[in-house]
Amino acid sequence: MSISVIPIQSLKGIGPAKAKLFSKLGIRNVEDLFYYYPRTYKDKSIVTDIAELVPENQYTVRVRVMNKPQEIRSRNGLLMVKTVVSDDTGKLNVVWFNNRFIKNSIKQDDELFLYGKVKVIGRDKVMEAPEYEKASGAESINLLRIVPEYPLTEGLGQKDMRKAVHAALELTEGKLSDIFPEDFRKRYQLSEINFCVNNIHYPESMFNLKLAIKRFKFEELFILQSGLIHIKRMNNAEKNGIAFKVYDEREFKDKLPFKLTNAQSKVLDEIFRDMESTKPMNRLVQGDVGSGKTVVALLAMYKCARNGYQSMMMVPTEILAEQHYLTFQQLLAGTGIRIELLKGSMTAKEKNAVLDKLRNHETDIVIGTHALIQDKVELAKAGLVITDEQHRFGVRQRTVLSDKGDNPDILVMTATPIPRTLTLILYGDLDVSIIDELPPGRKKIETYFIDTKKKERFYGFVKQHLEQGRQAYFVCPLVEESEKLELKSATEYREELQKHFLEYKVGLLHGKMKADEKNQIMEEMRKGNIHILVSTTVIEVGVNIPNSTIMAIENADRFGLAQLHQLRGRVGRGEHQSYCILISDSDSKVAVERLRYMTKSENGFEIAEKDLELRGAGELLGQRQHGLPELKIADILNDTAILKESRDAVEYLYDSGKLDEPEYQKMKKELDLRFKRILEEIALN
Ligand code: ADP
Ligand code: MG
Repeated sequence: MSISVIPIQSLKGIGPAKAKLFSKLGIRNVEDLFYYYPRTYKDKSIVTDIAELVPENQYTVRVRVMNKPQEIRSRNGLLMVKTVVSDDTGKLNVVWFNNRFIKNSIKQDDELFLYGKVKVIGRDKVMEAPEYEKASGAESINLLRIVPEYPLTEGLGQKDMRKAVHAALELTEGKLSDIFPEDFRKRYQLSEINFCVNNIHYPESMFNLKLAIKRFKFEELFILQSGLIHIKRMNNAEKNGIAFKVYDEREFKDKLPFKLTNAQSKVLDEIFRDMESTKPMNRLVQGDVGSGKTVVALLAMYKCARNGYQSMMMVPTEILAEQHYLTFQQLLAGTGIRIELLKGSMTAKEKNAVLDKLRNHETDIVIGTHALIQDKVELAKAGLVITDEQHRFGVRQRTVLSDKGDNPDILVMTATPIPRTLTLILYGDLDVSIIDELPPGRKKIETYFIDTKKKERFYGFVKQHLEQGRQAYFVCPLVEESEKLELKSATEYREELQKHFLEYKVGLLHGKMKADEKNQIMEEMRKGNIHILVSTTVIEVGVNIPNSTIMAIENADRFGLAQLHQLRGRVGRGEHQSYCILISDSDSKVAVERLRYMTKSENGFEIAEKDLELRGAGELLGQRQHGLPELKIADILNDTAILKESRDAVEYLYDSGKLDEPEYQKMKKELDLRFKRILEEIALN
């Protein structure tokens, strides 16, 4: 039975108006409904004697109504309906508030089930605003069982949800076919689909609920990962990419102002091997801030150019594009390799000139921001696409990218240290290289955590360094309310700092500035004409000004550790000792622990693990950033065992060739369908 084709409206009691509300929750058909998991459950299955009720707890009781419900209006206009009920063990007062229906729906001598919280008022036990149902003998979906509670939307109540799910379960009647064949379920100890759908919504017992939850977590992670692996295998196997020739890049390496680290060389080898193979490259390079990813990218582009192909490099900000452009021009000088910059702030004419050069193969390399390159650029001979700071950039964009040109090689680079478990999920479709070593001679960035009382002393410290010719960044306090407020606070913050540092120039950089203005400010900073740069977090990514040695971060507790680590990575890029000052008055224990941790560790991966442990995956990588669908039931942090199991299962299926066997065809088809839906969901985000 294919439940994705049964519209929600075909269920009993759901008309067009209700259907609309359901669609607000993303529920359009029975499949959506079954996969709309309860947020929590209440065990209302046990009936308790009135004599046993303990105040402040919630109970189900079975009672008889002793008198006709009375309406009473309180002085402040509240309508109360009161009655007294009893069972063999005692009496209980009951009160409902502002409910006009009670009086007509309950009569003396009715047999009822009630569920609610018990209080003591004076000497009496009172049950306040209980849910109620006639004890008619018919099956109840709201009481006398473990009852699901769903996330809701306005106009749609728990009872509506329960009724719909119940109707759907009756309609399908255990006839769902399982995407997991029996031997597969045995192998991974997964319960059967009909059992699980029943028990995830209306658990017969807590034990059954656990079995159902385990299955759906597995299923969710399995589908996601098999989709990613599928993309990866398609990229690797079915497409024919460019087989770049080996080229002696020594002439270029010898001209670099430094020797590559072992880690850089190792990663470069992996990249070159991919480039030389006939399969298109799909590789992620992970390396802590300052590990030297840029030059690795440049060497790949150099090889590409020497093979007669063009490459493009996409970066998240115009500042970064400009910076890379300058570096590359210097390093490529004398090689004859032509390079262009594409910026949003260029005039249409300037842009067109660059685009023409790319189309006519009059240039070899183009650098620009993601958006710009993605929609505008056409290359005469695309060989390599590089995206820098990939964590801002989703799975879907990656799949779209390979459509540029004839299966060009794809390289993505990120400084976001991602714990291993997350890498599996986020980058399951990529091969991963890690630059796990910093260039030699880097000094540790000394990190301090202070409160605002110590600020005057800290200003003195900054002055000493400015006197020695160094520069500083101040990341201004985060204001969450609005962009306008943020701008105001940044401006005021700059003015205040300027008063403290009269003999120096304090500049300002914020997200609302035009790209041109930003570039100008960065240029002034680079030239040393600005001594202190106040900034919102726009400088986070990739900025490289070696003379800057102080990074001060206000309200540091409000940032994620990974983000703090990124910000800190803006200093310590030159020969001088650098400092990072975390300013916070927070007295939250977790906040203090996190900031202390920053003062101790300088290893991005360790820091990311710590953040994951203290704050959870959602915070570490906001959904928007990683561009993956929100997981509905699995939790990457806590479900690592299931994550690993499902990963193994995916690999087993692909490697054993089982997926091509007849009894797996249904699964294969269904996996494709569901993963397509996941990709669509990502596209909407
Ligand atoms: P990231 O990995 O954060 O992008 P960059 O590529 O910007 O780091 O490199 C940071 C700094 O280190 C740059 O100034 C770069 O020139 C320098 N660098 C890169 N590789 C080496 C190396 N092998 N030895 C010394 N300095 C290097
Ligand atoms: Mg970089």
